[in-house]
Amino acid sequence: MYDNVSDIGSFAGAVLEEVETEDKRLARYALSGKGKGASSRALEDTDAAFFCKDGVPRRLGIMGGTFDPIHLGHLNCAERAMEALGLDGVLFIPAGDPAFKQDRDIASTEARLAMCELAVADNPSFCVSDIEIRRHGITYTVDTLERLRAAYGADVEFVFIIGTDSLLTLSDWKDASRLASLANFACVSRPGYEVDPVIVNGLCEAGFHIEFVKAPMFDISSSEVRALCKAGSSIRYLVPYAIRVFIAQHGLYGDERGEGRPTIGFEGSGTEWMY
Ligand code: ATP
Ligand code: MG
Repeated sequence: MYDNVSDIGSFAGAVLEEVETEDKRLARYALSGKGKGASSRALEDTDAAFFCKDGVPRRLGIMGGTFDPIHLGHLNCAERAMEALGLDGVLFIPAGDPAFKQDRDIASTEARLAMCELAVADNPSFCVSDIEIRRHGITYTVDTLERLRAAYGADVEFVFIIGTDSLLTLSDWKDASRLASLANFACVSRPGYEVDPVIVNGLCEAGFHIEFVKAPMFDISSSEVRALCKAGSSIRYLVPYAIRVFIAQHGLYGDERGEGRPTIGFEGSGTEWMY
């Protein structure tokens, strides 16, 4: 094995180089628009093919959100639910005009969609759908699930993945009883939010079928990521590398001080960015 510290050091150096190259390759690939490109496909050939193992996906995870921006908490949530519940894959669906976020400006649909695509580029079990983004006006989960059901057919089980904070508001979502009949729900623990048994009982009585996934929790929110960007602070280790690059390149979530912290360069891109 390794005889001394310097051997370990050079081994670590080699691994690091490989990881960096792979990260940058993925980021370049996704930024060049040659990623999975789910968003450029029509709904009819939606992502059904993408998840077909032996022809037909059986349990499909669906994760809706504003993803403004997508962060490691979202990705961890999807990965844990997929593993715990034996899902064939997870479809990320960024909201076009989210019903619950009418009170603040959100990043453009294109930017949020692009960040989702970047974030899933290295995971063959994750895919992004632009089904909500291509619709105009406020998007509701119940309508999206109806359309997905029509596209996927009756035999595919939908598992809609949410964090505990969303569970607490689920009964207020549009057409709750119809919603309950269209998908099962997976609730993944989220720091700062307790599962309230009274609420869970109410949801079960209303017809919801909920599975709980206990997972290592990531105390990350998009609000926090945006606030950090605004303050000119680092978002390293909160979002994937490619998302940091994207945010910096597009000047999203404005640094209030108007000054950058050029710390890393994307070789060959001629760009320097902060975060
Ligand atoms: P914001 O702060 O803008 O509300 P957010 O981080 O809550 O953003 P959303 O896009 O609102 O992200 O959430 C989409 C889904 O992801 C929701 O079901 C939410 O519960 C879940 N989620 C988000 N962050 C986490 C996390 N850190 N752990 C578990 N679930 C999460
Ligand atoms: Mg939220």
